[in-house]
Amino acid sequence: MDTATPSPAGTPTSTPPIPTAPPIPVFRPYLGPEVHEATTAALTAGWIGMGANTARLEQELGAYLGLGERPILTTSSGTAALHMAAVLAGLGPGDEVICPSFTYVAGHQAMSQTGAEVVFCDIEERTFGIDVASARSVITERTKAIMAVHFSGIPCDLDGVYALAKEFGLRVIEDAAHAFGSFYKGRRIGSIGDLVAFSFGPVKIITTLEGGALVMPDRAAIQEAHELRLIGVDSDTEERYKNSRTWEYDVVRQGYRYHLGSIPAAIGLSQLAMVETFIRNRQAYCRTYNRQLAEIPEVKTPDTDYEDLAPFIYVIRVADGETRRALMAHMKAQGVSTGIHFLGAHDFSFYEHCRRSDLSVTDRVSEQVITLPLYSFMDDRTIDRVVGSIASFFG
Ligand SMILES: *Cc1c(COP(=O)(O)O)cnc(C)c1O
Repeated sequence: MDTATPSPAGTPTSTPPIPTAPPIPVFRPYLGPEVHEATTAALTAGWIGMGANTARLEQELGAYLGLGERPILTTSSGTAALHMAAVLAGLGPGDEVICPSFTYVAGHQAMSQTGAEVVFCDIEERTFGIDVASARSVITERTKAIMAVHFSGIPCDLDGVYALAKEFGLRVIEDAAHAFGSFYKGRRIGSIGDLVAFSFGPVKIITTLEGGALVMPDRAAIQEAHELRLIGVDSDTEERYKNSRTWEYDVVRQGYRYHLGSIPAAIGLSQLAMVETFIRNRQAYCRTYNRQLAEIPEVKTPDTDYEDLAPFIYVIRVADGETRRALMAHMKAQGVSTGIHFLGAHDFSFYEHCRRSDLSVTDRVSEQVITLPLYSFMDDRTIDRVVGSIASFFG
């Protein structure tokens, strides 16, 4: 998931690289002057741990997402937010949680960290989101929750997921690591539903270097969430939010070191102030890709016009795994880095026993997908070079 590096100089390649063109990474986080200024100001203030900046980021995230009464807590990573969600959903040994195999394994790891068993289901062909009928087919009396993912920023079938959850009395954990700012039927992801986790990792739409956030459905679990985030401590958060500490407290449960410090929070605030520009630009680049790649019949582009979407990654499909390998090598030789989101997790050693059903869409799609370069600021020439490198492979 990290920024890809170009092939080392001197590596033999089928097509010699264009000497003057700089390599194009698949990810490039925005780290402009606003980010440096915010970092310097936060460092100068001298309060490094969780503090007032953390509280302010949570307030502004809540306002941006239109959360209303739904509380949001920032975390040290998206994985931490997902793990907290799993704990709050009551997952533990003996329970099962249904997850698409086709997602980043951070989600599966966050679920299995509780001792619960991950059970894989398939995805829909159009959105690459959870296939609700497939999820239904693997429900047992041990099923306690469903983890749903909004792949690449495209919302999954939330109505279907919540109807199924209601029918069987299940909790829902939305992995919204890709969907910060996306809308579902006119409401931002996070502003509806059960537990919703975001990531502000290095390459996500907005970053706090590492970080994340968890939205809860109501205030019922907020105290427990504070304790989980701060090593089981019952009462220090309020003081820390004022850049202060309390020295008298109780420790009431097993917790974790999952809070977000002041410097990352300040970086997050500087990014959040620009997020509408990030999203608008990314939408425009995705539409350009869709339009230009429509000329190449061997390439299947996402079936969306990007209205109401905050695109995290731009993913195309080719015929099969062999074509993908050759195309990625060809593009790399031209200085264009690509990625794969995702490998099916049921093929990983640690999760190979978690398959209960047909995963044929996952098997097919995970061989076909290629992630193209997408950042918050790109120029036309970069997109032309990416498309050109694909066109020259098929042409
Ligand atoms: C990035 C990501 C995560 C994990 O977030 P981190 O902040 O890296 O811990 C989880 N799920 C998906 C789908 C992701 O892309």
